[in-house]
Amino acid sequence: MSVTDETRPTFELGHRVAQRPEGVAEPETPVLQWYELHPIVAERPAEGEAGTPVDCGTCGETVDCLLASTALRDSRRVRRRRARYAYRAGQVLALVAAAGAFAYGAAKGTTMSGAGLALLVVVLVGGLWAASFANDLAKELAEPEDGLRLATPSAVHEIRPPGRDRDYDYHSGDSTLGGE
Ligand SMILES: [Zn+2]
Repeated sequence: MSVTDETRPTFELGHRVAQRPEGVAEPETPVLQWYELHPIVAERPAEGEAGTPVDCGTCGETVDCLLASTALRDSRRVRRRRARYAYRAGQVLALVAAAGAFAYGAAKGTTMSGAGLALLVVVLVGGLWAASFANDLAKELAEPEDGLRLATPSAVHEIRPPGRDRDYDYHSGDSTLGGE
């Protein structure tokens, strides 16, 4: 039986390097974090998840990874997709509820009491918190799934899609990495 791409992981082991490596062209936008990526040469188990030691080409450490079978990877993809749909549905519901509450308040035309004002502040702060939580969740759900993960969390290692060797920070005014 020949080895197909299906039986091999496409994601790679990333080692975070604090700064842009020597000789790498200056990026156009500020770069927050840079990774050196190392391909993972391993085959998926027939079922379940198998421990796969991977040698990191940056630090030489052996990093324990867990590689899922194609079936397990596919079921994780489905779960993630369902979670994305649920997230969207939640967004729509929240919008409808907010619009409904606004319309109700406008229709009643009440003037705001002290208690009403306090409640408004609580709702606004809660809303901000919820928005930032939702933003993080959306980012996590948008991550692609290759059925590959670290066996234990690592300070410098990450499983990353091929070619994604940097994380941009478009909002940062910080120019320590040469962005202007
Ligand atoms: Zn490393």
